[in-house]
Amino acid sequence: MTRRYDHFFSGREVKPASGRYIDRRSPATGEVVASFAEGTHSDASDAIAAARKAFDEGPWPRMTGAERGNIMFRFAELIERDLERLARIEMEEVGKPIRFARADIRGAIGMTRFAAGMATQIHGETFTNLGPDRVAFVKREPIGVVGMIIPWNFPADVLAKKLPYAMASGCTCVVKPSEFTSGTALEIAKLAIEAGVPPGVVNVVTGFGDPVGEVLTTSPDVNLVSFTGSTRVGKRIISNSAETIKPVALELGGKSANIVFADADLDAAIDGVLFGIFLNTGQCCVSGSRLLVQDTIADDFMARLVQAAKKLKVGDPSDESTDIGTMIHADHMNKVLGYIRGARDEGADLRLGGEPLDGGGLYLAPTIFDHVDPKMSIFREEVFGPVLSASRFSTMDEAIALANDSAYGLANSVWSSDFNTVMTVSSKVKSGLVWANTTLEVAPQLPFGGVKASGYGVETGAAGVEEFTVSKTVLMNSGKRANIYSL
Ligand code: NAD
Repeated sequence: MTRRYDHFFSGREVKPASGRYIDRRSPATGEVVASFAEGTHSDASDAIAAARKAFDEGPWPRMTGAERGNIMFRFAELIERDLERLARIEMEEVGKPIRFARADIRGAIGMTRFAAGMATQIHGETFTNLGPDRVAFVKREPIGVVGMIIPWNFPADVLAKKLPYAMASGCTCVVKPSEFTSGTALEIAKLAIEAGVPPGVVNVVTGFGDPVGEVLTTSPDVNLVSFTGSTRVGKRIISNSAETIKPVALELGGKSANIVFADADLDAAIDGVLFGIFLNTGQCCVSGSRLLVQDTIADDFMARLVQAAKKLKVGDPSDESTDIGTMIHADHMNKVLGYIRGARDEGADLRLGGEPLDGGGLYLAPTIFDHVDPKMSIFREEVFGPVLSASRFSTMDEAIALANDSAYGLANSVWSSDFNTVMTVSSKVKSGLVWANTTLEVAPQLPFGGVKASGYGVETGAAGVEEFTVSKTVLMNSGKRANIYSL
């Protein structure tokens, strides 16, 4: 049955001024599973006005941390109550296997709980070293109205990296989910109201990047834009923000490497490399889309990797045993097939896959290229599909140079049983995240973010709450001396 959604702001459903809706077809079955309000300029402005009013006049920023935290714990409980329902929406709209959709919602619950706890932990600093009659304190105040722009690959997870952290600090929010996968953001906004979050704190306006995202990034009433998506749109957001000197936090693309040394636990490394590239059909910002493997073990490792990849089950996302679901939409699938053709033309050695699969949906075979040269586009560009690019190295320096030979700097993983190798590689690779003998692991208390073309700003952890605050320095005179002229 098709779920039909209006916008959700000021605590209620709001019909689009356009009267139009965007149909979302399941990438697995082709059936329309949801339709979302096609937002206009005025819809976006109305949602911003709701958030502005809630921030300037409403109770949320004025509550104690404990009051906000208590409501947010209830919010987390309601998301947990509806876990299965939300996971099914995510599965239908994204085409991701149900067990991973559940894991995403569980992650969102964990982040909401962590942020709820953080609401009582936001405090400033006191300076008592300014002389006997002076004291200063530095407050952390909520930055104001936050515009949040969300991609389609992890709709609830990316939302949860932003929304509860901003709420904990006392901000109010306008969320623009992806036009392909808006369902969970709308459902979660309704749960916020049920939990007792005042209307106007969590607002969702759906539709296309232009106009809805454009309004969010140019409006003088939005105090910060937190964006997750492509580097291309990220650049546009930076230029849009210039007019209003709006701070922006950008979580962009990646081209992460799994670096496998000969002394690694190779079974664990094979498992990690496969998980790293095929989770969410390779449509993850942190996908380990490059494998760098030490030449002494490379032939054997690649043979075992290909064998293990053949056992992964691609297909119906609702099947509990499915490992890999669909691509997000046909245009994207064609773009990825273009990269595969390009890699073959450039001379990369296709070891597995490379073709769409039968089954009626947007299924693409797990694909592995070996002997990829760093000049090839498949080594350099974010393919965003189930396509692994493998290259070989002989020394640690070479491995580090190859890992850093990328415009991106989001995440890298190192596989080795040698402590010094792990320490050296983790300090020399240029990325915001490094995993050692594991991959793609995150936690609500750990900061998450990239460098270089992967963006700037930090999400999650205590720093992820601080991101939504501004500092205010208050210096107080408790003595007679008023200012330097009276000295
Ligand atoms: P995208 O950049 O096309 O779209 C992201 C969001 O931006 C969508 O909501 C879209 O509607 C909106 N948008 C489009 N044009 C806009 C404009 N002019 N102004 C404002 N908003 C606009 O990205 P996508 O295809 O949805 O997602 C895939 C990309 O996201 C990949 O590059 C991936 O690496 C990246 N990503 C990064 C992270 C991270 O944490 N670093 C996480 C997930 C995805």
